[in-house]
Amino acid sequence: MGTTKSNETYSAVSLSGGKDSSCLLILMIEKGLPIDCVLYADTGMEFPEMEAHIAKLDDFLFRERGLHITTLRHPHGFEWLMFEQPKQRADCLERRARLGMPPCGNGWPGVRVRWCTGELKTHLINKEVNRLKKENNACHFVGIAADESHRCKHAPTRRYPLVEWGITEAQALQICYGRGFDWGGLYEIYHRASCWCCPLQRIDELRKLRCHHPELWARLLDMDNRARAMFGPGPLGQFKQNWSVEQLEERFAREDGSTTA
Ligand code: SF4
Repeated sequence: MGTTKSNETYSAVSLSGGKDSSCLLILMIEKGLPIDCVLYADTGMEFPEMEAHIAKLDDFLFRERGLHITTLRHPHGFEWLMFEQPKQRADCLERRARLGMPPCGNGWPGVRVRWCTGELKTHLINKEVNRLKKENNACHFVGIAADESHRCKHAPTRRYPLVEWGITEAQALQICYGRGFDWGGLYEIYHRASCWCCPLQRIDELRKLRCHHPELWARLLDMDNRARAMFGPGPLGQFKQNWSVEQLEERFAREDGSTTA
């Protein structure tokens, strides 16, 4: 556990916390495959149920393999990147000054500028995996399901065991459920289990967020009000094209009859 001889392959498993990578980790443990490290990038904007799921998986991993999940975090986090990160490039600072925008903060992520995935997940995982590859000749195990195999990026140091085993997304979820990992019901409500504040999620998911996680919905309202006050009506201050969170709040309240507006 945790160490490797130079002629052995070091196994680094990526864990997003979702059904596919959770299933991968559970099956690798069950099948007795070597695991030297499990990498999880915490965006800080995870559902409380996801945090509990990660803790439960960590207990399982420690019980079975004497290993803990390695959690990677950006030193400042989502809200700092969104509101406070100082901009460095001269052309960016000039453009912002011209438009009367603040010299800091990335605003809401969007389809074209999805800064959050890179800063809070991909860069952190890739940096650590590259270090492990260099120092330990590591092989990177990634939890992509068989019906998502078009997302695989083939390389000699990467493996996609769920694809090799023919396990689909639906089967991955059932395998997790069968082992008692149910995310506190998160997948029964939502189609996705990533950041609760994601502006790229569907309107219907946001409707459910307001209903099932009102405390997170209140935080989202606050974040969006701050973003609009800081960045104005352009893409950086725009939660969704045509919708602020406040407008969604009015729409959902109208729909469920909690307002007569
Ligand atoms: S789930 Fe949404 S907010 Fe979170 S990192 Fe991915 S794109 Fe960004």
